[in-house]
Amino acid sequence: MLFLVTVCMAFAAPSFSVSDTSIVADPIPVKKPKNIVLLIGDGMGLTQISAGLYSNNNHLNLERFPVIGLHKSYAWDDLVTDSAAGATAFASGVKTYNAAIGVDKDTMAVPTLVEILEGRGYKTGIVATCSVTHATPASFFAHAASRRLYEEIATFLPKSGVDIFVGGGKKYFNQRTIDNRNIIAELEAEGYTVNDFDAANLPEISGTSGKKFGFFTADEEPVSLLNGRDYFIPAVEITHQFLTEANENGYFLMIEGSQIDWGGHANESDYIISEMIEFDQVIGKVLDWAEKDGETLVVVTADHETGGYAINPGSTMEKIIPAFTTKSHTAALIPVFAYGPGAELFSGIFENTAIFHKILETLKDGN
Ligand code: MG
Ligand code: ZN
Repeated sequence: MLFLVTVCMAFAAPSFSVSDTSIVADPIPVKKPKNIVLLIGDGMGLTQISAGLYSNNNHLNLERFPVIGLHKSYAWDDLVTDSAAGATAFASGVKTYNAAIGVDKDTMAVPTLVEILEGRGYKTGIVATCSVTHATPASFFAHAASRRLYEEIATFLPKSGVDIFVGGGKKYFNQRTIDNRNIIAELEAEGYTVNDFDAANLPEISGTSGKKFGFFTADEEPVSLLNGRDYFIPAVEITHQFLTEANENGYFLMIEGSQIDWGGHANESDYIISEMIEFDQVIGKVLDWAEKDGETLVVVTADHETGGYAINPGSTMEKIIPAFTTKSHTAALIPVFAYGPGAELFSGIFENTAIFHKILETLKDGN
């Protein structure tokens, strides 16, 4: 009889612990990263990665990541997200409507990773191969009901706290149509040194100077790599050097390979592949730095896939035969790659908004 009671209790015990939410396993401690680099390949689905890999002698730096996950990219109002809702999900952890920049489904401003981490004393940087007012970078420092409000988006940058930014879109700052403000002058009034990016003729930039830096790479959108864009890798190197100098509290850096998406919209495989391989070279640089310092969490993902891009039969590693289903975005699951302290949180399948929450989870006190 005693034996039976013991058995019953033994079987009963798990059901008590399941129903009692106070009895849960301690979470596995996460090592806290000092710095965070979030790299977003706009429109970079698995086929874009595959085509880049095969076209690059069957190798990408993405293969160096120990942790891989998948995110569900859909927007609040549309299974197929755009880059604004996609970036707002990463930057602020909310599902919102397509075209929303740093606002929720009710157009209320939501705090971004840049704002949250600036508030905690981090240095922040943004580098993109589109204009800085374009949807992806904008969602990290601005709040606007529509991604098309480029001039309104520009007005958020001077007081954003962003310590260094590189990208196009200069005309939205100094050749404005909605008002006659000079946002470059406003940036300078907030302590920025603003220049046009020319790697051969850069000003003295130093993270210890107390200055903030902005570099415009085009009046509107920067050209593609195939058409001569040459600033992406040097801009990332300079930004990294700036952010690591006098780096007491760590930094948050968002780097966007913006034009993988534009190759998808154009249904041009060579455009996609060239932008993909350059973005991967940037990823390799960041991984090299993170391996060396051992205290940087690196997360690479995309907002969505673009083009319904496929590698069709008859393709070889030397020659991809592409096919496309659309000139727009698609809703497939999107890969997430993570390296460094806290990377283990990024395995599995999760919502795109979870990337925001996981980044903040790694930074929790006690980690
Ligand atoms: Mg983008
Ligand atoms: Zn797009």
